[in-house]
Amino acid sequence: MRETTSQTESTTPSSRAGWLARLRGPLGATAVVGVLTIATAGAAFSAEAPTWKEFKASAFQDDDGTYVVNGDEPAFNVGELQEFYDRMTNEQHGHTDPLSLVVNRVNGKDDKWSATAALNITYCINTASFGTQASTVATAITNAAAAWQAAAKVKFVYKSAQNGNCTKTNSNVVFDVRQVTTSAYLARAFFPSSARTNRELLVSSYAFQTGNSWSLTGILRHELGHTLGFRHEHTRPEAGTCFEDSNWRALTSYDSASVMHYPECNGTNTGDLVLTDKDKYGAKALYGAP
Ligand SMILES: [Zn+2]
Repeated sequence: MRETTSQTESTTPSSRAGWLARLRGPLGATAVVGVLTIATAGAAFSAEAPTWKEFKASAFQDDDGTYVVNGDEPAFNVGELQEFYDRMTNEQHGHTDPLSLVVNRVNGKDDKWSATAALNITYCINTASFGTQASTVATAITNAAAAWQAAAKVKFVYKSAQNGNCTKTNSNVVFDVRQVTTSAYLARAFFPSSARTNRELLVSSYAFQTGNSWSLTGILRHELGHTLGFRHEHTRPEAGTCFEDSNWRALTSYDSASVMHYPECNGTNTGDLVLTDKDKYGAKALYGAP
């Protein structure tokens, strides 16, 4: 999840720069401190595409080497970044694809947990990285998980015994939760198809700031949606902007207020990020009733 500021990348519709800015995903190098406000990203998806070389050079790379695209979604190596670029450039004009919450697709199949795995999505919290905020984030994850668990047959299981070794190499949990200090995003997650070493829920220290438009729990409701396989709702053509790609399947009709919809992409969600009735219906459609 990311927020945009009114000072950055806000008014470059239909420009090459806007296209680049949006593709880059998170905010630029500008440190975002203090009050964060949501502004219109504005970049209509119609401009001339950058070359691969230009795109790669402008891509944001996290300190662990991961590229971040679409605001808070990881591309774990150059190959994945190029796949993303190829999809974007090939599907730039794919808005009119016939369509029926939005689940990610990999090789033509839903990117979701099996019925068994969905009921045991274990995680640990790297409490050392969070310091005095450790209990705050633990509570926020519990509350965010509860929202999805009330909607669908999924269960997040906190394995606090693994907190002392809570890294991406700990195979005793499905994913680890760590704090990072980047200002490029508030948090980022993964999809079910990600390999264990890529299954990290990274929470920026900026996510704890009280001036944010969303609560930490709201941000985590969005991120846990990704971990269940849900894509950004604004990739759908009805949003009119912020198109990402067409590797997804619609579970409901378009929902501009979805917890998975960035407000700055013509979203209508105001206040905190919460599951809408359609989000709940979509989650149930994919995983069954709780
Ligand atoms: Zn997201």
